[in-house]
Amino acid sequence: MLSKIPYTKPSITALEEKFVGDAVRTGWGNNCYSYINKFENDFADYMGVKYAVATSSCTGALHLGLSALGIGPGDNVIIADTNWIASVAPIVHLGAKPIFVDIESDSWCIDAELVEKNITNRTKAIIAVHLYGNSCEMNKLQEIGKKYSIPIIEDAAEAIGSIYQNQKLGSLGLFGTFSFHGTKTMTTGEGGMFVTNDQNIFNKVKTLSNHGRDKNQTKQFWSDCIGFKYKMSNLQAAIGCAQLMRIEELVKQKRKIFNYYYDFLSRFKSITFNYEDHEKINGYWMPTIVFDLDSGIKTNFLIEQFSKQNIDARVFFWPLSKMPMFTENQQNVNSYSIYKRAINLPSYHDMTHLEQDRVLSIFKNIKNLR
Ligand SMILES: *Cc1c(COP(=O)(O)O)cnc(C)c1O
Repeated sequence: MLSKIPYTKPSITALEEKFVGDAVRTGWGNNCYSYINKFENDFADYMGVKYAVATSSCTGALHLGLSALGIGPGDNVIIADTNWIASVAPIVHLGAKPIFVDIESDSWCIDAELVEKNITNRTKAIIAVHLYGNSCEMNKLQEIGKKYSIPIIEDAAEAIGSIYQNQKLGSLGLFGTFSFHGTKTMTTGEGGMFVTNDQNIFNKVKTLSNHGRDKNQTKQFWSDCIGFKYKMSNLQAAIGCAQLMRIEELVKQKRKIFNYYYDFLSRFKSITFNYEDHEKINGYWMPTIVFDLDSGIKTNFLIEQFSKQNIDARVFFWPLSKMPMFTENQQNVNSYSIYKRAINLPSYHDMTHLEQDRVLSIFKNIKNLR
C-alpha cells in the first residue's frame, strides 16, 4: 500500500518547540500576555497595519469585527456564494442576513458588478473572501464601498502571503481577518487575527474581545457591554511568533509546490489554476484546478482516482446557498458550476517532488485529457 498523502499538515520545527516550551515554562502570572503582545505587534508589522488583535479563530475575529460595526437584525451583508461556512456564520449569529452573489469564473472570488447590483439600504457590509489565495478585485470593491458608504471587509484566512498592487491582502479593507487553523499556511493549532488601521474599530474590537471591558476602565471585573471570549492563549501565540518568523519560507514553499504542479498541468488546455496576474502575487494556500465544462471531467471522478492512489482528495467549496439553512438566491451560475469540476491538490510544506509526481501521475493516466 502506498503511503498516505494528506492534503495539508503544518511545518513545525525546533523554533516552534523552543518558543512554546518557553511559554509553557515562563508564560504565566506577570508574563501571561508576553507572547500574545509580541505576536500582535509582529503580525501588525508584517502586515503593515497599525493594529492587530489575536483571537481564538478567524470565525471569532469576523464575529468581533461585524459586531463592532453594529451589524444586527434587519441588516444585510453581501458575500460570495462559494465559501467556507465560517465566513458567513457570524453574520447569521448576529441576526443579519447574508446575501450570496456569484463568483467570477477566473478568480473564483466575488463578482464586484453583482455586488453593486445587490446593494440596498439594508446593506451594512461587503465581505471580500480571497479564495484559495486568489485576490478579490479590491479596487472595484473599494470604489463601490466609497460610493455607497459601505465598509469592505477582507476575510484573508486563505491569503496570507498574497499581494495586490504591492499591498498585502488583509490590509486593504476596513478590517481584515486571518486564520491559523492547522490546515492554513501558518498555524497556531487553532487561532486567528483581526487587523485594521482604523483606531475606532480597533478600540471597539479590543473591548468586545475582553468581555466588554474598556481598556480605560479602572474598576475590576466591570463590563461596559456584553462582549465575547475569543482570546488566543499565550501558548498558541508562542507558536505563532515562531511561524511568523518563518512566514517568507512558508509562503515560498507554497509557491514552489504550486509551480511544480503548474509546470506539468499547464500543458492541458482544459485546466485552469489559481489566478495571478501582473498586479497580484498569489500565496497559493491551496493549489486548485478547475476543468472546462467540455472536458467532461467531474470532481466525483477525480475523488475516486485520488483515493485509489491513497491521496487525500479535497473538494472545492460548495455554494453556501445550496445548504439547508439558506434557500434563496440559487441562481449563481459560476458558483453552481465550478465546484462540480474542480479539486484542491495536496500542498503541505514538506511535500517532496516524488509525492507531487504521485499526484501528477493521476492526470497522466486520464485518457483524452487535453
Ligand atoms: C479557514 C477559514 C476560516 C475559518 O477559520 P477558523 O480559524 O477555523 O475560524 C474563515 N474563512 C476562510 C476563508 C477560511 O479559509
